[in-house]
Amino acid sequence: MTLTKKPESRPAPNSWGLASGENPWEYAPAPEATDHIRIEPEYGLFIGNEFAPSKPRKSFTVINPATEEPLAKVAHASKADVHRAVGSAREAHRSVWSKLPGRERAKYLYRIARIMQERAREFAVVESMNSGKPIKESRDVDVPLAAAHFFYYAGWADKLEYAFPNREPRSLGVAAQVIPWNFPLLMLAWKIAPALAAGNTVILKPASTTPLTAYLFADVVRQADLPPGVVNIITGPGEIGMELVTHPDVNKVAFTGSTAVGKMIARAIAGTGKKVTLELGGKAANIVFDDAPLDQAIEGIINGIYFNQGEVCCAGSRLFVQESVYEPLIDKLKARLGTLRVGDPLDKNTDIGAINSAGQLAKVQELVESGIAEGAEIFQPDCQLPARGFFFRPTLFTGVSQSHRIAQEEIFGPVLSVLTFRTPEEAIEKANNTPYGLSAGVWTEKGSRIFKMIGAMRAGVVWANTFNRFDPTSPFGGYKESGYGREGGIHGLGAYLDLSGNGSRRG
Ligand code: NDP
Repeated sequence: MTLTKKPESRPAPNSWGLASGENPWEYAPAPEATDHIRIEPEYGLFIGNEFAPSKPRKSFTVINPATEEPLAKVAHASKADVHRAVGSAREAHRSVWSKLPGRERAKYLYRIARIMQERAREFAVVESMNSGKPIKESRDVDVPLAAAHFFYYAGWADKLEYAFPNREPRSLGVAAQVIPWNFPLLMLAWKIAPALAAGNTVILKPASTTPLTAYLFADVVRQADLPPGVVNIITGPGEIGMELVTHPDVNKVAFTGSTAVGKMIARAIAGTGKKVTLELGGKAANIVFDDAPLDQAIEGIINGIYFNQGEVCCAGSRLFVQESVYEPLIDKLKARLGTLRVGDPLDKNTDIGAINSAGQLAKVQELVESGIAEGAEIFQPDCQLPARGFFFRPTLFTGVSQSHRIAQEEIFGPVLSVLTFRTPEEAIEKANNTPYGLSAGVWTEKGSRIFKMIGAMRAGVVWANTFNRFDPTSPFGGYKESGYGREGGIHGLGAYLDLSGNGSRRG
């Protein structure tokens, strides 16, 4: 059943001079300009600071998921191109990057960070056009955080001995990095900034649907005068990602994406001695106790699951509500859902943009249908969706049981499953009843309860009275099927270093 209840609308005062029937609460369109950006018709592979077509020459088209219009063609790398990119990274590591003192590497990273800030509007618009995410998110979250990662790791580049005392930190060599489509630029920054700060060179493979900010970043690499081969970017399908991570001359693998592909990569490189971090899926529990400030919790729940259309590995996709506040909380949540604006990602008022691809939209639809078929009750606000593009209404399921697929599987869309609990012990047991362990949230006014919950939950990150907060200084990563290793903070730096030395060589 789809309920179509809208928040109560109040009549406008006569003094506003509106025509009869005109909705006084409607936002006027506020589209971000696109005339300051330039998307090339075709992008080659970025190897050794040069853009060049793949060999043999082959390309595929990248579209705007909000309009389904083509944006550009990008090169489809071959196995030989992967080999060339790894060779370029190896040579740059051997001849230049590994020999530069940390303070010199830091200068390049600071330069990259400053250029990203200068070109922030350009990055934000291209990111929203290519990924479907609302401009207010790419402008206020993705791009500033990406620049912040470069600033942060620039600060560590000449202080590795202090970060890891008595360990003789050394770079690993060549890093192969495969990233997903939900945070294309931010994931690039999470991967490239610590790798370069630690003295490694990289080959990055963006997701096939969202390579455009990576190629814009390649332009920044040239602008910052980074030595050729330190950063290489290649595009192509999943098999090319596999060619890259299994290449014998790669020392470090960093992957963010689905658990299924993460497992394939782990199997493929097992026993090779490559250092690896896997950042995989999640099914986070967001737990609201009866003493929580409900209005604040509503905003945290909304941000937790509808931010970036729910296409977030750490999204708060399972909401656990203590039974005594269930009804008021659900009423408030439904009313708040009705105020979310779905539509043009480039409109500054848009809260929920387009799902990244037709394939992802189909996956979300299939799981939502399974929720209905398994007996959960669906609520969607009656908002108008654009005629074209991959849009989906913010969705709320109540009456969800733990065995439902929508309570078990990662949906990666704007869909929230609501469950209830009576005691903290029950909340902990239900929250941990998942193969994943990436993140969680707790809402309560009691500090002691926060600590008890944090200690008991098998999740890499637990937010208290907030959700989806990120900072370059904080490590991020999962337990169980959410992967292993940490990104961010000193932990993220250690993942790109050989720390086997014990300082004895210093004499
Ligand atoms: P994938 O894991 O397939 O894609 C992530 C990255 O891995 C992309 O660059 C992709 O390339 C690449 N890749 C795909 N297959 C291989 C392979 N065999 N070897 C090496 N690299 C590979 O995610 P999907 O895009 O297919 O999304 C499927 C589901 O995964 C989503 O519905 C969501 O549940 C989850 N997901 C989780 C993410 C997270 O952050 N934890 C991020 C994205 C998805 P290409 O794009 O060319 O296929």
